[in-house]
Amino acid sequence: MNQALKGLKVAVIGAGPAGLVSAREALRHGCTVTVFEAGNAVGGVWVYSEAVEDDPLGQRSSQLVHSSLYDSLSTNLPRDLMAFSDYTFDTRGGGEDGWPRFPHHTCVRQYLDRFADDFDVRRHINFNTPVTSVNRQGDRWQVNSAKAVSTFDAVIICNGHYSRPRVPDLPGLEHFKGEVVHAHNYRNASHYAGKRVAVWGTSASGFDLANEVGGVAESVYWCGNVFTGATNLGENKRGLPSPKKIDESGRLCFGDPEYHVEVDMILFCTGYHYDFPFLEAGIVDVEDNWVHPLYQDIVPPDDPSLGFIGLPFLIVPFPVFEMQARWFVKQLVSEFSLPDVSERKAQFQRKIDGLVEASVLKRHYHRLGEAQVAYFNGLAEQSGCDPMPAWFLKTWADSLKARDKDPINYKQAIFPVRGPTVCTIQD
Ligand code: FAD
Repeated sequence: MNQALKGLKVAVIGAGPAGLVSAREALRHGCTVTVFEAGNAVGGVWVYSEAVEDDPLGQRSSQLVHSSLYDSLSTNLPRDLMAFSDYTFDTRGGGEDGWPRFPHHTCVRQYLDRFADDFDVRRHINFNTPVTSVNRQGDRWQVNSAKAVSTFDAVIICNGHYSRPRVPDLPGLEHFKGEVVHAHNYRNASHYAGKRVAVWGTSASGFDLANEVGGVAESVYWCGNVFTGATNLGENKRGLPSPKKIDESGRLCFGDPEYHVEVDMILFCTGYHYDFPFLEAGIVDVEDNWVHPLYQDIVPPDDPSLGFIGLPFLIVPFPVFEMQARWFVKQLVSEFSLPDVSERKAQFQRKIDGLVEASVLKRHYHRLGEAQVAYFNGLAEQSGCDPMPAWFLKTWADSLKARDKDPINYKQAIFPVRGPTVCTIQD
């Protein structure tokens, strides 16, 4: 490490998984770290709250709730994949050997809590301290919180992106006489018993909630672009394309040929917005959920003292966040050099040109899926870290195969445990 850079003052915004691992990396590299956390606990999304917002769609709520978890949620990834590289998700690390392979959300919170203690991150966290503004002041960053104003050499933004609900335009919504709710404010199915429910969205939450609500509702219309027409999904469940409008009688309509259903509730599982309300204007733009310009999806090309950890989605989050945090901190303390600013801008532009060429929607620019392997390995190579281990790739492939084979029961599937985390249930 460059000794002259030891002691850099680094602010971390958020004490969720991305903030915790970023703080640990910065501490390991000799930085003086202050973590600002709006809530009163470690864990971010994993701090479940029964509270919901006063606007069920989450558009005009007077009090924001951060977590979007529902009561029954268990992870959609096996815990051996979710572990940080040197902190197993078992008794030796931050978990229990006997936990299910896809544990309940309370287990993830416990893992993160132990991480905060075992790596001595907790004492650097200021709880109940929302950051209200982050501004460039010469060669430093000024961070204003509800409690103080301080300046830093670098800022790492880890405020998460599953808290500000995205609600697509649905013309005629004002004619709907039933209830509308976004998944952000869904906690359990009791309220849906005996009702006719449209669940809009076919990604992870849409899938989970269509099934959970289907267990108690009179009928579920599961809507999304994966359905090209009305599809019988058995018992009380039917697949339908994304709705086009609500007609004047309050019915949900599905375009041509005109097809409509009457429902009591619409549950929007339609995703979330990136939002950095505290960040000085002009540093990045958020355009149709694309945060730009960012080199390596982490730093503004002309200012690598500001890092965004955790923007990519459709990934195995914790290990990718850890790699991003290492990369960010190592370049910050000059353990490796980034290409110069013009090359960073050029690389960013080449990447965007490729996405435009491939007709990718802007709001999917941070979606990685399989590309997370190349992304992870690219960051690792640049910063002198290890690439994704072979066991990880095999287990990830196994878990995807199990989900494809049985999307409902894949969490009970048995497949080999290869990495360092112990899962006794599978032995
Ligand atoms: P968060 O966990 O959202 O943490 C952000 C933190 O920043 C919060 O503590 C918040 O209070 C704080 N904050 C925000 N604004 C401010 C501010 N202005 N000042 C100070 N603090 C602030 N991931 C998995 O790996 N496995 C899963 O099975 C899985 N399931 C999921 C299910 C659901 C329903 C959702 C919504 C997400 C799921 N995820 C899952 C993804 C999950 O978001 C990530 O695991 C992870 O929590 C993201 O971490 P983060 O630190 O980026 O953000």
